[in-house]
Amino acid sequence: MKKRILIIGAGISGLASALMLEKIGYKPVIFEKSDCSRNDGGGLTLWSNATDALHSMGLLEEIYQNSKVISESTLKTSSGQTLATIPLRELATKYGTHTVGILRANLHHILASNLKQTEIKKGYRLVDLKETNEEVIARFENGHEQAGDLLLGADGIYSAVRNKIFPNNSLRFSGYEAWRGISTYTDQYTKSGLAFEAWGNGMRFGFIPMSDSLVYWFATRNTSENLSEGQISKEQLTHTFREFVEPVPTVIKVTKEKDITRKVIYDLKPLQNWSKGRVLLIGDAAHPTTPNLGQGACMALEDAVILAQTLEKGNSISHTVKTFEDMRMDRAKFIVNSSWVLGKIAQIENKLFCDVRNRLVKIGPSIQRNSNFNRIIGHKIL
Ligand SMILES: Cc1cc2nc3c(=O)[nH]c(=O)nc-3n(C[C@H](O)[C@H](O)[C@H](O)COP(=O)(O)OP(=O)(O)OC[C@H]3O[C@@H](n4cnc5c(N)ncnc54)[C@H](O)[C@@H]3O)c2cc1C
Repeated sequence: MKKRILIIGAGISGLASALMLEKIGYKPVIFEKSDCSRNDGGGLTLWSNATDALHSMGLLEEIYQNSKVISESTLKTSSGQTLATIPLRELATKYGTHTVGILRANLHHILASNLKQTEIKKGYRLVDLKETNEEVIARFENGHEQAGDLLLGADGIYSAVRNKIFPNNSLRFSGYEAWRGISTYTDQYTKSGLAFEAWGNGMRFGFIPMSDSLVYWFATRNTSENLSEGQISKEQLTHTFREFVEPVPTVIKVTKEKDITRKVIYDLKPLQNWSKGRVLLIGDAAHPTTPNLGQGACMALEDAVILAQTLEKGNSISHTVKTFEDMRMDRAKFIVNSSWVLGKIAQIENKLFCDVRNRLVKIGPSIQRNSNFNRIIGHKIL
């Protein structure tokens, strides 16, 4: 008989895992704390490694139809001087799949609408876990209890599941905050699929086309910890990023205030284990990372494919979770740590150090020849 699999969280990792589990004959149940589908957080870059995972899920064409292929990504200074260019369309020939910019809501919709056998129970916030020799029992805020053979904690960076099985871990403060926005906007960048990230002094602005007329952007700034999460007015944001040249000021200007969200950035120092007994963490619950490499959701998609591969072998729960950890932990650790270091470099505030950094990037070897870049983006799942 197939194992009863409970998934906590209907985010990218929960939905993608359910989809892959269905493909190998499981009928998982997802428990999601919110009542409606998540639609926040604007957009995402899904690099070739993520579109490769989506290809394994049979969703690549649907993704391409609902996103924008990024032909080139440029790293520049806030004054517009080019430091490096990554020819992503050209690299897709090598990697097999494109890098795309996509509305987060589109990715959620595509994953959720392809589920056929999965029940999604909304308004179920996990509050407790209990394990016996035979099963794991999840308890929810609404009083409901559910038993299963394996419980997947796919409940994101602030994972309640992780806090239950590893209570002594705490998130690591990055030193910076990020605003994210989406807006209708058309120019040569969006039409040609040109993404860029501009580096200032302790500040960055990223621009990712999601269609010919839709853009996702993010802006980061150094900050102190425990700054309570709050909104900033568009005027304040425009003022903060005033040293950045066009199209940055226009993009901020055309974005509606309600479409701008702010987040203080954290990650988690890589854990030694992601599982305890019948409970396994996946996605951000297992390996939350700073967004500097744009790899959090990409890794969540990879996790889903590998999880199905390990479960398909039909081994015991303990063997399955161990195999999953063996297959995924080194890669996740490498990405989390690389992203952390990149964030430190990108957020340098001292003007002199920024100038040196920029010069080194400009004269250094091309990014696409960098073996670490290829290890991350060019990763093949199968
Ligand atoms: C500024 C920023 C930019 C980013 N840009 C990119 C990018 O370009 N590319 C990329 O690949 N990644 C990016 N990421 C990372 C990406 O957003 C995450 O890695 C991804 O959302 C993780 O998916 P997840 O399903 O693991 O977690 P989540 O998306 O957080 O989903 C978790 C789900 O669990 C639910 N939940 C939480 N607690 C409970 C509970 N107790 N009971 C039941 N349900 C619960 C939540 O409501 C949610 O639906 C970015 C992140 C940030 C902060």
